[in-house]
Amino acid sequence: MTGRSRLTVLAGPTAVGKGTVAGYVREHHPEVWLSVSVTTRRPRPGEADGVHYHFVDDAEFDRMVDEGELLEWAVVHGLARYGTPRRPVEEALTAGRPALLEIDLQGARQVRDSMPDAFFVFLAPPTWEELVRRLVGRGTEEEPEREARLGTARVELAAAAEFDVVVLNDDVRRAAEELVSLMRSPEPIAKRD
Ligand code: 5GP
Repeated sequence: MTGRSRLTVLAGPTAVGKGTVAGYVREHHPEVWLSVSVTTRRPRPGEADGVHYHFVDDAEFDRMVDEGELLEWAVVHGLARYGTPRRPVEEALTAGRPALLEIDLQGARQVRDSMPDAFFVFLAPPTWEELVRRLVGRGTEEEPEREARLGTARVELAAAAEFDVVVLNDDVRRAAEELVSLMRSPEPIAKRD
């Protein structure tokens, strides 16, 4: 029988490529269980309900919060709510599957409070300029949203020290492989402040 596995939380600044790294893991490492978040934002082109997110309305999100169904949740960029359904995470961990959450910093802090034994990975951009280039280059957001995301990113970059390890996203495949190998690593986690 397999024992309970360890939860890994991947966080980092906006547009650093967390979603892309998580997508690489989804595609190339089926042994890793990836949490599907709920969100109140609208789907972008190419996003499938139940695969990238569970797209819900405000009433359904409220219900999930009220019933304690979310392990963590946050308003991201002041624009939409995002949350991690608790039960699938518990089931994956109980089944002994390496489990990964790709969430924002506020969510990562909530998980640190409720599951301090989880493994916290900060995905960092190679440079601030590269982060800005990625953010602006994506071209999916209007100006006010882009400004909000840049502001969030500045604050989030300073949070790297709160994490167990920093992985540099200089190359998606390399970063994803480093993440997966860290998830496999049996080494005990160094103590955090
Ligand atoms: P996007 O709208 O670009 O898909 O995601 C925006 C931000 O929401 C990203 O930083 C992503 O990590 C974060 N996010 C996605 N799912 C969750 C979640 O379940 N909880 C929290 N706290 N943040 C999430």
